[in-house]
Amino acid sequence: MKNEIHEECGVFGVWGVKDAANLAYYGLHALQHRGQEACGIVCVDENKQHNRVKGEGLVTEVFNEKNLVNLKGDYAIAHVRYATAGGAGIENVQPFLFRHHTGNFALAHNGNLVNSRELARYLEHKGSLFQSTSDSELLAHLIKKDNNTKHRIHNIIDALNMIEGAFAFLILSDKRLYCARDKYGLRPLSIGRLNGGYVVSSETCALDVVGAEFVRDVEPGEIVVIDADGLHSFTYSHFKRHYMCAMEYVYFARPDSDIEGCNVHAYRKESGRILYRESPVDADIVIGVPDSSLSAAIGYAEESGIPYEMGLIKNKYIGRTFIQPSQELREKGVRMKLSAVRSIVKGKRVVMIDDSIVRGTTSRRIVNLLKEAGAVEVHVRIASPPYCHPCYYGVDTATYEELISARMSVEELCEKIGADSLKFLSVEGLYKSGRRSELCTACFSGKYPTVLYDRETNKKC
Ligand code: AMP
Ligand code: SF4
Repeated sequence: MKNEIHEECGVFGVWGVKDAANLAYYGLHALQHRGQEACGIVCVDENKQHNRVKGEGLVTEVFNEKNLVNLKGDYAIAHVRYATAGGAGIENVQPFLFRHHTGNFALAHNGNLVNSRELARYLEHKGSLFQSTSDSELLAHLIKKDNNTKHRIHNIIDALNMIEGAFAFLILSDKRLYCARDKYGLRPLSIGRLNGGYVVSSETCALDVVGAEFVRDVEPGEIVVIDADGLHSFTYSHFKRHYMCAMEYVYFARPDSDIEGCNVHAYRKESGRILYRESPVDADIVIGVPDSSLSAAIGYAEESGIPYEMGLIKNKYIGRTFIQPSQELREKGVRMKLSAVRSIVKGKRVVMIDDSIVRGTTSRRIVNLLKEAGAVEVHVRIASPPYCHPCYYGVDTATYEELISARMSVEELCEKIGADSLKFLSVEGLYKSGRRSELCTACFSGKYPTVLYDRETNKKC
């Protein structure tokens, strides 16, 4: 079944708050950075009916006052989706809605399962027919695989124990909202309180936007059930770790979000400070690549005493470069997205901070932009280690061939991007930036926290 979808998504849920769909709309809007390809909201109305609006495009494109009016009720789950080649198509847009004689339910998911192929084969042998290529559908089939009279929570717990990988799941029945996180703790999920009800979100920035008060994170290996009696916690796995995705801190999450108690901006700023201590350089100004590298650039400037400047301006109305599927389009996209500020960089020795180098396109274009604008030296400092192993947990890097650091040494890469020097943060620096003892750093270190079945993992940086 699925192997081609590589997505980094956002989920948002509402339990027992008036006009849940409107709230979900604002929640999704705050999570838009986690996925710009498609989005959807499912709402349960007073007749216990699940209604859905979903479509391809941004939150502001898919929803409007007319279609939101059709989503009545105080209970909702919602999803923003990011997907690249192979995973597009309306049938893959979430939340999914499943009709069953034991009760309908909706499901939304962020992350990626590593044993989806094996599970799909197992379920197909049992008679399942799949409509989409999504992991969420797989979980729904697992929940309903046995005709038994067990309470739904037990079927969900059994299903969660069969899946391996990274996930934050929201399941909405007509009575309850189920919120689960993978036992490795790879994907974030936080709970907030609002007007006597609850909201659940991939990131705390969306809790703040809707005015909810942070209650706590869903724990790895935990499923939190929200119903008329409040929150109920079940442990579906006693194996539980806190291998939070390091890229959440480095790039994905919004700087105003707190992930497992650590603010993303503070993390990035600290990574910039550490980066300077690990790789100092003599220069006139420090600049960051907007937006995700600005916090690290501020940290680097503060630690070094080199002035922080705004040397690059981003056109806010263009999506992230990765959305565009081909390398050729991506290259054009970088140019459209960023401009160098000539009066600031001309004649200067510039330290350019970026959060990561994945395919290498962005850095090469930006170094070129800065040199064209008159920078005399461009020293590139990257606030994460060389990204040289594919992620199997829902992030858009599937093969070694796509990853420039898997193919080139730092010296070769420095030459390729045209920089005067190039240095990366150490893997240790990733832990230190968030004062964390556990973290997923697999795409940097090659140490995958889960079993990977038949994925290719033997290559080295
Ligand atoms: P490139 O090296 O051209 O592939 O682009 C790297 C830039 O893309 C980084 O500076 C990040 O800002 C951003 N980036 C890193 N990882 C991802 C990802 N998985 N999806 C989208 N953008 C990413
Ligand atoms: Fe995040 Fe990298 Fe781990 Fe994937 S491999 S979950 S991108 S840290």
